[in-house]
Amino acid sequence: MKICLTIPEARAASRDARASGKRLGLVPTMGALHEGHLSLVRAANAQCDAVAVSIFVNPTQFGPTEDLSKYPRQFDRDCRLLEKEGVEILFAPSVEEIYPNGEVTWVLVEGLSEKLDGRSRPGHFRGVTTIVSKLFHIIEPEAAFFGQKDAAQLAVIRRMVRDLNFSIEIIACPIKREPDGLAMSSRNAYLNREERGRALVLQRSLQRAQQEFQAGERNAAKLISAAKEVFAREPLVALDYFEVVDPGTLDLVERISQKTLVAVAAYVGTTRLIDNTVLEP
Ligand code: AMP
Repeated sequence: MKICLTIPEARAASRDARASGKRLGLVPTMGALHEGHLSLVRAANAQCDAVAVSIFVNPTQFGPTEDLSKYPRQFDRDCRLLEKEGVEILFAPSVEEIYPNGEVTWVLVEGLSEKLDGRSRPGHFRGVTTIVSKLFHIIEPEAAFFGQKDAAQLAVIRRMVRDLNFSIEIIACPIKREPDGLAMSSRNAYLNREERGRALVLQRSLQRAQQEFQAGERNAAKLISAAKEVFAREPLVALDYFEVVDPGTLDLVERISQKTLVAVAAYVGTTRLIDNTVLEP
């Protein structure tokens, strides 16, 4: 595995990979890798001839009161895991490499970026679309792999790729869960024992909405109130949002008549977790 710390190194390594006619896949991450990330790497390996992974804790997607400085960093362990998966290129730049002083250019997907997590985390998606654009230009992959776990992020990136004519296939990979159902996340490491137990309420609320849906309920408001009842029984977890939306536009849905995203975010202690499920009538 070639470890590239600078943009020129990453460009050269990606160019070499593409020059030999290989289909290059990119998996962008913030590191502290878990099975969710590795499932993206495996999907990329299955669908591409060479895989590049980026590890970059992107400061522009963190708000001023968020967990940028304490975000978990485990570079040596991440390298070993990626090496084992047969990753060809690891791009792990410093903040100075990606954002030397003075940038004024942003990529913003208007409208979508203010929905779901974008509403609770102003500026978050602008940071995501800007860094993902930069990674796309540096690595120039043919395909990029993202987790369904971050469903709003996926919608924003798909829209950016369409609007800015990136010639990159966006591939979504299913949510990887712990054996008890908690969606895997680097942020799960923040949870103490008690919080780890309480965190299951996100998954339970989605299951409750799913049960109502399977029983024939198509009214989004009814699914939401059923899910909120589940949260009411876990008062130490603060619900941020529970929404029923179109997975492409993130617009609210009132009656479920096509593929619909049910997304939840909640604070377990100070840790903000997200999860979602897709309903298909
Ligand atoms: P992050 O390191 O949190 O920025 O995540 C990097 C990529 O891994 C994103 O595309 C996430 O959606 C994806 N990812 C994170 N957690 C999971 C999970 N539990 N299952 C599948 N993909 C995930």
